[in-house]
Amino acid sequence: MINEFVKRNISKLPPQIVTIIEKNMKRIPFINNRINKEIDSVMEGLEESMKPYRKTHETFSTLPLEGRSREDILREMEELNKKEESKWKEGYVSGAVYHGDKEHINFLNKVYAISSQSNPLHSDLWPSASKYEAEIISMTSDMLGARYSESDICGCVTSGGTESILLAMKTYRDYAEDKKGIKKPEMIVPVTAHAAFDKASEYFKIKMRHIPVDSNYMADVEAVKNAITRNTIVIVGSAPTFPHGTIDPIDDLSELARENNIGFHTDACLGGFVLPWAKKLGYDIPNFDFWLKGVTSISADTHKYGYAAKGTSVVMYRNEELRHYQYFTASDWPGGLYFSPTFAGSRAGALSASCWASLLSIGEKGYIYATKKIMDSAKIIKNGIQDISELYILGKPLWVIAFGSDEIDIYRVMDFMTKKGWSLNGLHKPSCIHIAVTLRHTQEGVAQRFIKDLKEAVVDVKNKPASQDGMAPIYGMAATLPTRGVVSDILKKYLDSYYRV
Ligand SMILES: *Cc1c(COP(=O)(O)O)cnc(C)c1O
Repeated sequence: MINEFVKRNISKLPPQIVTIIEKNMKRIPFINNRINKEIDSVMEGLEESMKPYRKTHETFSTLPLEGRSREDILREMEELNKKEESKWKEGYVSGAVYHGDKEHINFLNKVYAISSQSNPLHSDLWPSASKYEAEIISMTSDMLGARYSESDICGCVTSGGTESILLAMKTYRDYAEDKKGIKKPEMIVPVTAHAAFDKASEYFKIKMRHIPVDSNYMADVEAVKNAITRNTIVIVGSAPTFPHGTIDPIDDLSELARENNIGFHTDACLGGFVLPWAKKLGYDIPNFDFWLKGVTSISADTHKYGYAAKGTSVVMYRNEELRHYQYFTASDWPGGLYFSPTFAGSRAGALSASCWASLLSIGEKGYIYATKKIMDSAKIIKNGIQDISELYILGKPLWVIAFGSDEIDIYRVMDFMTKKGWSLNGLHKPSCIHIAVTLRHTQEGVAQRFIKDLKEAVVDVKNKPASQDGMAPIYGMAATLPTRGVVSDILKKYLDSYYRV
């Protein structure tokens, strides 16, 4: 393995030097060939598992001359769906499908079908789209502290958490330039915040200032304080974080932002539709929403614990003035007066319609009940992990539970769980894996089955030698600093394979 070669030779050098070596190493044909061979062999395995239907189903790389019959198409799609749904239905998957009950899905599908032609870009044709979206934003922000706030909390429906975050960061950039003349904007973001913030930094050329977390995996307030400069446009905190499910000290962080006249974004993509209800149920939930005066924007994903179909999220702002910096308008385009609130032009009004229907049909009591079930199952899982002496839980999570080990390779534990049918999330820095508990895991016996399989996994990893397949070797490689660039190449090639027929 090139991995071993690199480890032995240069991994002990300082990172700056390693980066230079890595760059130059790739220029040496012999080493470059070795790296490429290594990548190719990893890719081959990955592509095979990504494209199982190449062997079993006809591939269409060009349009069929005659259209296929609708029945035929439906039959094939039903067949593929059958193969794919049992895993998440039976609760083997971390996150991904957050509700998943048949009646709920059928209801959302019906709603989608009713509105499938709707496009909020043409709100004159579909005023219902405006009704649905305005009410989604109002219901969501009311839940997140708007009712206790004197400000005119407002927002937009977006296509997902990433779009909500990208839009908020763009908004702060444009606001700061216009109001404060900041030309070299910087954002202060804990390392545990979602990668969408790094994406925003890259897309919008906002300098990223990453902040470390403390031993509880919460953002280090002192470090944030020290990172503030006159170019800081926004500070970010998560409620909770995606990796470890911990809630940053939003109270202190947002106050720091307010004192310095900087924006503060709470990323409640994961927790927006859980934390308010967990609080009502008596869980010790710190303030994280618009109740805090320093919080100037929040993202909350309706397509996660709002139980809507994939494709909606809400980004909220403290006032309309701020929201204006998100909007796009074109007043001299020959195509007419044009304006759109989010990144997309035309959008699926049906997604907003089914999101609205999801919120309405579940209602406050429904969300509280769902949250209670999730917390109860999470408790079983947390206790079960704590009983396994080789494993430990990172931080103090509520329902997104990350765990690692000082004794065994946690990625091999993940690989064993994968073979048992589970689909967990691999995390790193530090090495761990997590399960985001959803309503799927609240079904009879699922949490117990998870712990039973996990115990078996630990025993297996302790007693058997490591194999070369699965994710463990890839995470091993990602952990080796000098090969980070190589890992990035692999990820890009992975995306290339996704698009190969
Ligand atoms: C899921 C998630 C996001 C991103 O959401 P997408 O809907 O996948 O774009 C952002 N932040 C957190 C904390 C999340 O869990």
